[in-house]
Amino acid sequence: MAISKSAFNTLLKETQETNSTLVAVSKLQPVSAIESLYAWGQRNFGENYVQELMAKQPQLPADIQWHFIGHLQTNKVKYIAPFVHLVHTVDSEKLLLEINRQAAKNNRVIHCLIQVHIAEEDSKFGLLPGQAEALLISLQQSTFKNIMIAGLMGMASFSQDEHTIAGEFKLLQQLFNKYQRYFSTHPAPHIAFNTLSMGMSGDYQLALQYGSNMIRVGSLIFGHRS
Ligand SMILES: *Cc1c(COP(=O)(O)O)cnc(C)c1O
Repeated sequence: MAISKSAFNTLLKETQETNSTLVAVSKLQPVSAIESLYAWGQRNFGENYVQELMAKQPQLPADIQWHFIGHLQTNKVKYIAPFVHLVHTVDSEKLLLEINRQAAKNNRVIHCLIQVHIAEEDSKFGLLPGQAEALLISLQQSTFKNIMIAGLMGMASFSQDEHTIAGEFKLLQQLFNKYQRYFSTHPAPHIAFNTLSMGMSGDYQLALQYGSNMIRVGSLIFGHRS
């Protein structure tokens, strides 16, 4: 474990003071590292790879809330649908259709975030703001009974330039506020806009300043990934 218990408690305090949730990103970390953090009270963990999550989940306590934060392929949804708590990376209606289908099979409602592309790099996944809006508007009429759209997720550019990152977080914050306002006056049965997932080890403090209420922190907690 890279982080000391007191440093972890400081991180936890920072998130609690801003009413946000700390998701500990445990990708490529062993089950034992997750168990250590669990013993300190951490319950929200994030994973990027379906195979890895499927292997870890049965070995760990059932009250862990698993966040899927990697790129999700439609044909793999069925493996995580029985237990996943929140899918952060929805980037198409086709994927939502499959999440709804698999959630129904498991008699569950799966909460989802729409991933918005805010970074300069081409490599980051997610919908452009206009595409995200089109999807949200179409979902107002949807009959998906087994999903709940809970908000937005984004990743800032991999950059040292704080102004660049701040500008990207600000954009996502503005989009989040806009749709939160919109859906408060235009309620839709499968939309409950309350979660803004942004901020990682290097930029979570900046993200909290721009209204993030869910940060995804990996290497700062667990150390470098092998
Ligand atoms: C790996 C990952 C994180 C955590 O990154 P760190 O820099 O290790 O904190 C957060 N979000 C996503 C989507 C990731 O893939």
